[in-house]
Amino acid sequence: MARLEEYRAVAGSDVIDELLLIAERLKGRTLLHVNSTAVGGGVAEILNRMVPLLNEMGITSRWEVIKGGEAFYAVTKKFHNALHGDRQEVTPGDYQAYEETTDENLNGLDLGADFVFIHDPQPAALVKKRAGLKNRWLWRCHIDLSHADPGVWSFLRPYVEKYDACVVSAPAFAQKLPIPQILIAPSIDPLSDKNRDLEDSEVRAVMERLRIPTDKPLITQVSRFDRLKDPVGVIRAFKSIRSSVEARLLLVGGSAADDPEGVQVYQEALEAAKGEEDIIILALPPTSHLEINAIQRASSVILQKSLREGFGLTVSEALWKGKPVIAGAVGGIPQQIIHKQSGILVHSVEGASYWMKQLLQQPAFARKLGENGREHVRSNFLLTRHLRDYMLLFLASEKPDAEFIRL
Ligand code: UDP
Repeated sequence: MARLEEYRAVAGSDVIDELLLIAERLKGRTLLHVNSTAVGGGVAEILNRMVPLLNEMGITSRWEVIKGGEAFYAVTKKFHNALHGDRQEVTPGDYQAYEETTDENLNGLDLGADFVFIHDPQPAALVKKRAGLKNRWLWRCHIDLSHADPGVWSFLRPYVEKYDACVVSAPAFAQKLPIPQILIAPSIDPLSDKNRDLEDSEVRAVMERLRIPTDKPLITQVSRFDRLKDPVGVIRAFKSIRSSVEARLLLVGGSAADDPEGVQVYQEALEAAKGEEDIIILALPPTSHLEINAIQRASSVILQKSLREGFGLTVSEALWKGKPVIAGAVGGIPQQIIHKQSGILVHSVEGASYWMKQLLQQPAFARKLGENGREHVRSNFLLTRHLRDYMLLFLASEKPDAEFIRL
């Protein structure tokens, strides 16, 4: 795993110097991250890299994953969909199952850290145990709360209010809350297997091993099989241009341990693609980082046609590889894509198919979008910027009444 010094070349030396300066102020502090899955999805992706780097900088960091049964994850998936604005039938029994699993986890968790950083709704209610603890509690919400279902939100809100601060990924996700809300965008790790530079021969080897033909340009979407990522919409968009372009569509996805709907949505995608030999649907284990890196690099156009999105790490991942990206104008995606500058924003199946065709037919424009996208990610969405923001947040949370903090 890359060490902090190795990031100088890619993020800039001054960025690393600044990180070390801030870390000096936090030396010896302890930090606990809690989320609900060790693999799959953006949160696990980030914590995997963030925790070792924080440790390297002298902030002793642990990462715990809460445990829950099938019933609990069925409920939290409903919460997830409802907070993203989808209609869900949430019953009193669901809320009870959530409370019970929270209590079971509280029995086994050591919450003794200077900063307790809780990610997303699944473990949010752990905060009920904070009374009597003198540490700081931060809730990191990775989902789009801008259309949150009022019922589920009013259940979660009293828990959220017990935190010292709430961190969101986009301004539109802010809620009416009596605690400070802080905007911090997620990030990608440029040196991980998912994003590091690859030789052409490495890319070819992966494509051969996965038996993905590269004789036609590839249009690719990498996403968990989740309806909010709209895999069926992607297939419809591709089908409508298939007769006028030479290309293949590739949908690559895995599942996350805390997502019970994956298998069903995967089946829906297979059904929608039936009989189409230029559509490839590939399920990969959630640890396939090098494979996804190679697939993104082998693609001509990348899609992320989400209907709702927290941030959408896959967009930054693709832009970092200099790829033209067509993505839904939702959640944190417009922070990453400035329309027609660093990618293309779309609002419909028709928009997605129009731009797929345009980008395949205008390679110079497509290349420019990718180049701009890479620089936009370098300035805003690398792990080093994210580490800096989190450390500043820790410092600020220790001094809730300070108007400014001198470093
Ligand atoms: N991902 C993966 N394998 C898959 C699907 C997704 O490794 O089959 C990764 C993807 O590369 C990205 C993360 O999971 O790093 C997804 O993060 P994003 O913010 O795009 O969406 P989320 O899944 O958190 O909703």
